[in-house]
Amino acid sequence: MLRLPKFKYLAPKTLSQALKLLADHGPGAMLIAGGTDVLPKMKRRQFHPQVLIGLNGIKRLRGIRGSRNKGFLIKAGTSLSEIASHSVIGKAYPGLTQAAEVISTPILRNMGTIGGNLCLDTRCNYYDQSHEWRQAIHWCKKAPGAGLSSEEVPCRVAPGSPRCWAVSSCDTAPMLIALGAQVTLAGPQGERTIPTSALYHDDGQRYLTKGPDEILTEVHLPPADGIRSAYLKLRRRGAFDFPVLGAAVALKLGTDNLIESARIVIGGIASHPVEMEAAEKLLLGRPYSPELGRQAAQAAFALARPMDNTDFTLFYRKKMVPVYIERALRRALAS
Ligand SMILES: Cc1cc2nc3c(=O)[nH]c(=O)nc-3n(C[C@H](O)[C@H](O)[C@H](O)COP(=O)(O)OP(=O)(O)OC[C@H]3O[C@@H](n4cnc5c(N)ncnc54)[C@H](O)[C@@H]3O)c2cc1C
Ligand code: SF4
Repeated sequence: MLRLPKFKYLAPKTLSQALKLLADHGPGAMLIAGGTDVLPKMKRRQFHPQVLIGLNGIKRLRGIRGSRNKGFLIKAGTSLSEIASHSVIGKAYPGLTQAAEVISTPILRNMGTIGGNLCLDTRCNYYDQSHEWRQAIHWCKKAPGAGLSSEEVPCRVAPGSPRCWAVSSCDTAPMLIALGAQVTLAGPQGERTIPTSALYHDDGQRYLTKGPDEILTEVHLPPADGIRSAYLKLRRRGAFDFPVLGAAVALKLGTDNLIESARIVIGGIASHPVEMEAAEKLLLGRPYSPELGRQAAQAAFALARPMDNTDFTLFYRKKMVPVYIERALRRALAS
């Protein structure tokens, strides 16, 4: 049985207390919300914080408010279950409901939060293993052994590469990017609001642009404004696996059913969610037809370059990118 190492748990009641604790404890501290990723990773010794700063007691970080016309504010500590079961969100942004309701299991969705999901660690077959397993292969860049720096150990997937290629595996990020959502980060210097896409670096190790002293506080969904959306996920076991491919689509039809706006964002194929701009451009200003959907989906094939570090072969995952985009386009238009 894997056991948790010793740690100190601090439970601030306000955001400013949490920010102060984070600043006071520095790199030895880590935020925890639902803990559904932090705690398993501490057991596998992928994370070793001496101090955990719990966010669940901060009332300001919970709740959903808004409307289809004004858009929604979703606080970072809101559970995935609350989002998945929100009736107005389900009607106005069906893609977000579809993304939230396929994350892990019902119990984990009750604990797991949207903030934790957006800040979820990247994943890799060589990293998401026990301490002993990783020690046996002499570690890798993302989690070098004690006393080693990441420069001293290779990437096991791409041994000549100077970077880590671990995969962005959160289901809500591609959908929120496609919907044009923004996120607010609070830090010692105040608050800043950025597009969700700007939260991510294309780097499996330093995958977030968020500073270590910042807390994600809110997600802002723009007005639904006729946007049709859908999310589809590829994984081996429908019951609870992480995505090895997630296709998020948000479309708006204008007069004469011409496509007025189109955003297609793919998760699970790179260290950050990837926007398929070439596919989007093909759709714009044209009426949707099955043939156009196929062409747009095919345009994404060349842009998808998954690495061999998750479930299924990379060739299969690459082949599935256009298939899932085409299906997601049809699902969005049917919504
Ligand atoms: C068996 C299993 C299956 C899973 N399947 C999926 C899946 O299919 N899809 C998926 O997307 N996820 C999956 N997960 C991961 C996880 O359950 C979800 O991503 C969940 O939303 C994480 O939220 P949390 O609140 O539990 O995060 P935590 O574990 O508490 O935190 C995760 C990370 O976010 C940081 N963090 C949390 N809140 C904030 C904040 N407000 N500001 C800044 N940083 C913050 C933490 O420091 C940590 O780095 C799975 C987990 C398990 C154990
Ligand atoms: S991509 Fe390479 S460095 Fe990153 S976790 Fe996997 S093996 Fe390690």
